Amino acid sequence: MNTTGKRVLLASPRGFCAGVVRAIDAVEKALELYGAPIYVRHEIVHNTHVVQTLERKGAVFVEDTSQVPEGSIVLFSAHGVAPTVHEQAAKRKLTAIDATCPLVTKVHKEAIRYAREDYDILLIGHKGHEEVIGTFGEAPDHIQLVDGPDDVGDIAVRDPSKVMWLSQTTLSVDETMAVVEALRDKFPQLLSPPSDDICYATQNRQLAVKQISAEAGLVIVIGSRSSSNSRRLVDTAKLAGARDARLVDTAEEIDERWMDDVTTVGVTSGASVPEVLIEQVLARLAQCGFENIEIIKAADETQRFSLPRRLRLPCQHNSEREAP
Ligand code: SF4
Repeated sequence: MNTTGKRVLLASPRGFCAGVVRAIDAVEKALELYGAPIYVRHEIVHNTHVVQTLERKGAVFVEDTSQVPEGSIVLFSAHGVAPTVHEQAAKRKLTAIDATCPLVTKVHKEAIRYAREDYDILLIGHKGHEEVIGTFGEAPDHIQLVDGPDDVGDIAVRDPSKVMWLSQTTLSVDETMAVVEALRDKFPQLLSPPSDDICYATQNRQLAVKQISAEAGLVIVIGSRSSSNSRRLVDTAKLAGARDARLVDTAEEIDERWMDDVTTVGVTSGASVPEVLIEQVLARLAQCGFENIEIIKAADETQRFSLPRRLRLPCQHNSEREAP
């Protein structure tokens, strides 16, 4: 096989973010402290490999707290939950461990604060996404969901001078700002959140994929289809100039025909993807002649989050809501 000129541009940062590391560590620490089974409401993070690995260790994933036996331990995923979920858990006498990413909690707090101040809140996000359901649940009487620019026309508010926007943490930065501009055309006094809702990890991964895409004939994004931030990386790669961009869960899904006439392949991964899956993709690409790897670094990441309080102070037994 002729490998002349074939290369891989490997995006950095990629893969696990601080919120995902914390959520996975929380499940493992709970298993260590309390033993199996530990019930986890919803996929702890949107990655099939991570979920299956934790299942083998004794985690049991459920979609609703009603599926958790009374008196058991239940862990809430990184995406966050509505207050009603905490109430249901308390009613069933479950010990709740809240692994909501602190950056999602920040958005919940913003929703609570601006609802208290009686703002109409326009939440930009994907209908049905677990994180959006949780944030919406903080102030359902004050929040309207905006799922893309097509929704803007139908939005009506009580007082155009008291309206603000929030967003899901894992959206495309560029697409979100386009929606904000459309909202601002309609509501010129639209207030922005005090700080970015789209999290640092999502922004950094999008920045890095933009840098590899202009030169890449193909960009491979490793991530599960349920992962919003991974799907946004595919969109961002195409908008940034990649001739083709594909989402794969694992290396086995890569089709060698995608690389016909391609000399540069870009590789990145969503925030819920472990490095082992990236290594397998790089090994598969090497089999196809793409052995030269160049790392393209867009940002340094040093963010870390401590474990949920109950796992730091395991002697507490009452059900509690960690935040907000
Ligand atoms: Fe937190 Fe961002 Fe990671 Fe989501 S993608 S878990 S908001 S750091």
